Amino acid sequence: MRVLIGGGSGFVGRELTQLLRRKGHEVTIISRQPGPGRITWADLECGGLPPCEGAVNLAGEILLNPFRRWNESYKKELFSSRIDTTRSLVQAIASSSSPPKSWVLVTGVACYKPSRTAEYSEESEWTPYDFLSKLVKEWEGTGRLPENVAQNTRQVIIRAGVVLGRNGGAMKQMLTPFWLGLGGTLGSGQQPFPWIHVADLAGIIARSLEPSPDPTISAPEIYNGVAPAHNTNYEFTKALGQALQRPTLFPVPGIVIRALLGAERAVVLTEGQWVTPKKTLETGYKFQYPDLGSALQEIVGS
Ligand code: NDP
Repeated sequence: MRVLIGGGSGFVGRELTQLLRRKGHEVTIISRQPGPGRITWADLECGGLPPCEGAVNLAGEILLNPFRRWNESYKKELFSSRIDTTRSLVQAIASSSSPPKSWVLVTGVACYKPSRTAEYSEESEWTPYDFLSKLVKEWEGTGRLPENVAQNTRQVIIRAGVVLGRNGGAMKQMLTPFWLGLGGTLGSGQQPFPWIHVADLAGIIARSLEPSPDPTISAPEIYNGVAPAHNTNYEFTKALGQALQRPTLFPVPGIVIRALLGAERAVVLTEGQWVTPKKTLETGYKFQYPDLGSALQEIVGS
């Protein structure tokens, strides 16, 4: 299969590319930078969709960049890097004479309102209530294919939790302070911490590129991209400290996180939601890293 991956140069995209190539598929990346095995977003807009049987969008300005001040221009970039790239791909798919068999969009669990008690599955109703949930609403809406195209192209949306892996994402920023023994819980530590190992997210995306088990469905299929284990931030902190054999004695108060990141994005760290991958499990997907212990062992092990 030939697979086109928007934002495929990033953390999740690199893992997905390796997995797909191991399975014998061909990958082309859409990037802002030209290069071998790549096309640019401008190429896509001018030249249309290159021949492919599967398309994925992973493009997006990083949310938890500690060096970016939380201001209007950053917020605009968070939106446009996701919405405009998704729209470009949808338009290219819709106007292609030979559209792909599958179209996969990765969004986030921020659509579900943080709560210590509610448990969300893919079937849970939600309405946008803050910056991030509004972003997810618009992102997923933009990702929807026109009805006539959706008859022949499987549409999948995967709502990812915090993606954990050795070579990027949140872990990259956390490892140094934890190695130095400066790690600690964030806020109260009692908030849910929905997470997934990057290998599992890549596995769920790869599976979504395969033909639909029910080709009569033309609406987007939604899957939660989170591990089946439910953990709090406290449990995550302790497990990471244990895996690194380092103490975790320095809690970071919520007020400090909000001051550093801005309240609207600090919610990702200081609040959380219990998310269950109900439909993901129903597809028969077997998680390689269903619990924190095995995931962190793989990530920090030698
Ligand atoms: P990365 O931060 O690694 O970024 C992916 C790619 O997006 C980059 O390689 C880059 O490609 C492209 N990109 C970055 N900024 C912009 C921009 N301003 N405009 C256009 N393209 C841009 O993301 P991940 O791989 O970690 O995540 C993939 C997707 O999953 C993202 O949409 C993210 O929002 C979502 N997600 C990730 C989570 C995580 O914990 N990592 C959690 C939940 C959702 P290039 O430089 O080649 O153009």
